[in-house]
Amino acid sequence: MGEFLPYGRQSVTEEDIAAVTEVLRGDWLTTGPAVTRFEADLAGHTGGNPAVAVTSGTAALHVAYAAAGVGPGDEVVVSPMTFVATAATAALQGAEVVFADVEPDTGNLAPAAARAALTERTKVVAAVDYAGHPAELDELRAVADSSGALLLEDAAHSVGGSWQGRPVGSMADLTTFSFFPTKNLTTAEGGAVVTPAGPLLERARAFRNHGLVRDRAAQRHPDEGAWHQEVHEFGLNYRLPDVLCALGSSQLRRLGEFGRRRAEIHARYDGGLADVAEVRTPVTRPGAEVMWHLYALRVLDGRRRALYEHLRGAGIGVQVNYIPAYWHPVFEDLGYRRGLCPAAEGFYREQLSLPLFPDLTDADVDRVIEEIRAFFGS
Ligand SMILES: *Cc1c(COP(=O)(O)O)cnc(C)c1O
Repeated sequence: MGEFLPYGRQSVTEEDIAAVTEVLRGDWLTTGPAVTRFEADLAGHTGGNPAVAVTSGTAALHVAYAAAGVGPGDEVVVSPMTFVATAATAALQGAEVVFADVEPDTGNLAPAAARAALTERTKVVAAVDYAGHPAELDELRAVADSSGALLLEDAAHSVGGSWQGRPVGSMADLTTFSFFPTKNLTTAEGGAVVTPAGPLLERARAFRNHGLVRDRAAQRHPDEGAWHQEVHEFGLNYRLPDVLCALGSSQLRRLGEFGRRRAEIHARYDGGLADVAEVRTPVTRPGAEVMWHLYALRVLDGRRRALYEHLRGAGIGVQVNYIPAYWHPVFEDLGYRRGLCPAAEGFYREQLSLPLFPDLTDADVDRVIEEIRAFFGS
């Protein structure tokens, strides 16, 4: 048995470490020039849409919903095939979360299901680029527009990818990223909200920083004194510090390299598992340039759990992403019932994430393939 292989992990170089230590030796630890630089660097990957760096992908979602003005009386349509934060942050804003089912092949929010979930109270339609594969963003845009809702893209998995030639971050009203170590690039903890310049951007920036208004022209009491800053709407402190933004800029330089290596590994699994009758390899829809965050294998015939346990026993850190979000007891207690989104539940029952991260070697990948083949005797 080889060393334990996690399902995802960061790739940190000496250059990354040097970028961080340089900031530590400087004058700014928190909000300084590295934040501005990281936001500008990120905008280089979003078709130029501005980025607001925040402390996590969860904070990015919270900021996005707050910027959208989501509150009590509003409904937010959410994909259930996601980490709980996509739904939890809308619920924390006081909205009612309406789960709409997913496409059986990609696990992404199904436009038809999202359309059927719309009411006159729908404020946001929140899709997730599951495993890095962009959602059906053109159809979802049309769905959101048909009821005057905003389109939010939880792109925690998909920074660096594109859809029909347009980069992730250039299509939705609000796009959110996560820079947790298992994701496509890391700032340790971190995230960002991306949105075109305009009121959503201004509100996102304000919410990240307590809602503080420093611009005298916008203040209600501008004559208070030069020290004065005032709050018009409540916000929080979700500021990503300079130290971590420096890491982010350094990591971003390798985003293309990360994407190529992730694609190679993904293809190697595809090739090694294509003829195993008991599994299905992931699909790529036409028009998707995927930054693969997960290798989402499907295990048929109810054997997912047995394969999970076999691989874990062999030191291979497979994972399941995700239980349908409404299976969490917090949603159960609010009356959400199993059976609500049958495609998502079917997807979950078969899903198994294989190790996928840039520093994984071909030999590691082959070891995982061999263990799976051995389990099925193929
Ligand atoms: C990781 C993740 C989040 C939350 O990001 P954090 O940085 O861990 O807070 C939200 N949505 C999805 C789909 C994720 O994978």
